[in-house]
Amino acid sequence: MLGKKHIDYVIVGQGLAGSAVALQLLKRQKKILVIDRPCANSSSRVAAGLFNPVTGRNLVKTWMADQLFPYFQKFYQAAEALTRQKFFHQMPLYRPFGSIEEQNEWMAKSADPIYQGYVREIYTHPTHKNVKDVFGGLMLNQCGYLDTIPYLEAVRTFIKSNALFLEESLDDDLLEIGENSIRYKGHEASNLIFCQGIESNQWFKWVPILPLKGETIRIESHRSENIIINRGVYAVPVNQKGTWRVGATYSLTDNVKDITDQARAELTSKMDELVSFPYTVVDQEWGIRPTTHDRKPVLGQHPEHKVLYIFNGLGPKGVSLAPYFSEILVQSIENHQSLNKEVNIERYKLLYWSPSTRI
Ligand SMILES: Cc1cc2nc3c(=O)[nH]c(=O)nc-3n(C[C@H](O)[C@H](O)[C@H](O)COP(=O)(O)OP(=O)(O)OC[C@H]3O[C@@H](n4cnc5c(N)ncnc54)[C@H](O)[C@@H]3O)c2cc1C
Repeated sequence: MLGKKHIDYVIVGQGLAGSAVALQLLKRQKKILVIDRPCANSSSRVAAGLFNPVTGRNLVKTWMADQLFPYFQKFYQAAEALTRQKFFHQMPLYRPFGSIEEQNEWMAKSADPIYQGYVREIYTHPTHKNVKDVFGGLMLNQCGYLDTIPYLEAVRTFIKSNALFLEESLDDDLLEIGENSIRYKGHEASNLIFCQGIESNQWFKWVPILPLKGETIRIESHRSENIIINRGVYAVPVNQKGTWRVGATYSLTDNVKDITDQARAELTSKMDELVSFPYTVVDQEWGIRPTTHDRKPVLGQHPEHKVLYIFNGLGPKGVSLAPYFSEILVQSIENHQSLNKEVNIERYKLLYWSPSTRI
């Protein structure tokens, strides 16, 4: 029997993961309740929001770029139209070459069809007055950044006007889980999706989400650009007045829940190798990315409680992963479509779940 206050979904957490799931469900006219406890240092709020299709030390096309990039571009533009706010900024990314060998390698690689649409131009000589680019560099398309705080705020306001929102921490002890529904504080729902980032809950605590700490700095200078600069660190111009976000550090071992001098020194040292202008550090932030051993998101249904789901493990690429995989998760629940092995929670079930870990 469905109660008076019956809804379709409860979503716990409104970071990049929960926001994307909420928008997917509202698009399908589902009745939802979002529960989120505001947290200034949540990964999504601290993120510089960068997206870049060619990444890593070896500079290769990122996993599933051909599917993810067109999808999230449409997704965030639709979210801007829906919320009437601007937060999605597309701009080229310039990466100076470190050597003549790297320059030659990219001259050859840029002709490869797999990079078509991503490489805008190869420069063989110093080109940018603000960048240390003695060997020239690579200008990439389909890059930019999501201004995450305005995005999260806009989605939050939209949810509040079109659905139910509880600004508080979920109390696990008050959650009643039945065979076909859950109950929480007088609400009854058909499904619940946990999108809690680094936080856990008693039902999914066996899923190994690894904390990957990151820090960023904000700098002020007299130089502005309409491009992102990246090598060792990224420098994202956040306005035309010379303010930049610079990041990020990566640490699986630093568990200090605060900013550190060490991270600041690392970022300024890499920034000094990259740019040719003076600047002042005006702010520093920290956050913890929810990541996984295989660097793939984790989504799917609880092995025993079929009304519970998880969407997590977005790691350092939440901006590009959340839109596409929230759609995949919602389709799997609504249309009973099977999930790709690479992202399916099943890959952890065999390793870590047993009836003794269940609640
Ligand atoms: C320094 C740094 C830089 C980064 N830069 C980038 C970047 O440039 N590009 C990019 O794509 N990604 C970047 N990331 C990664 C990105 O931030 C993450 O992939 C993404 O934010 C993860 O989103 P999430 O929604 O899973 O988790 P979170 O952002 O942690 O959101 C979880 C939400 O759930 C809430 N919550 C948890 N437990 C409960 C509970 N019991 N009750 C109620 N609410 C709860 C939390 O308060 C939070 O609001 C960066 C991360 C860091 C730390």
